[in-house]
Amino acid sequence: MLFTLPALVLDKDKIEEIDYLVTLFTPRGKTRVLAKGAQKSLKRFLNLLEDLTYLRVHLRKPQRGKIFILEGADLLYLPESPRKEPLKFYFFSYLAEVIDFTSPSSLSKESFYWITEYVKDIDRRDAVKLDKFFWEMKWLEICGLSPYIYDCVRCGKRPQRMFYFSISQGGVLCLNCRDENVFILSPSQIDLLRKIGRIKTLKEMEILWEGLFEEERGQLLELSERFFLHHFDWEPRSLKLLKEHWVNHG
Ligand SMILES: [Zn+2]
Repeated sequence: MLFTLPALVLDKDKIEEIDYLVTLFTPRGKTRVLAKGAQKSLKRFLNLLEDLTYLRVHLRKPQRGKIFILEGADLLYLPESPRKEPLKFYFFSYLAEVIDFTSPSSLSKESFYWITEYVKDIDRRDAVKLDKFFWEMKWLEICGLSPYIYDCVRCGKRPQRMFYFSISQGGVLCLNCRDENVFILSPSQIDLLRKIGRIKTLKEMEILWEGLFEEERGQLLELSERFFLHHFDWEPRSLKLLKEHWVNHG
């Protein structure tokens, strides 16, 4: 039985001499499939198996075992920038690693297609810091882990003027509930965090971002990364490499 699915490539591991175990991200979630190298198809596959290449895969149910066989793949979108720029290469690895290690067991189709559009978008852009911030906030949302930024997470009162953000508590605290580990956020930072849930594209994100001071942006970049790592309780290997490469980028 042969069936077809859209999929983003997350990882490939060489097994045996010539086979690859390929991790794919599909609208049904994550799955691992076997790309048989013994067949002539290996050459055709190999350059399609880079991080976040978007494919339409043709899978066959094996006679034995549970791992589906990758019979063929049509290219839907090939990211160009990771092949040209090391910074983009590490950014794409970071995204693929995040999806691979933290993707929820069920996912809406809408989220899947949002991710495919996001990948095309970042391939053309040159703003990795902002794109990473947006990714972290959107991925938290997809995984049901968004920070709570309306009422105080401890007492439920709505903060009026001062917003204290606690990473470990998962959101905003009021004046009375704050502790020594909070970030103080400005009303414009809070406003941006509240709007992210409703926006879909980096273009919209950029408009909000331009309304912040440099210092407010820097603080949000730090906040999103720390919140992300804390709530997934995991340290991506690729993050260190990515950050070594972005020293000279805005
Ligand atoms: Zn409170």
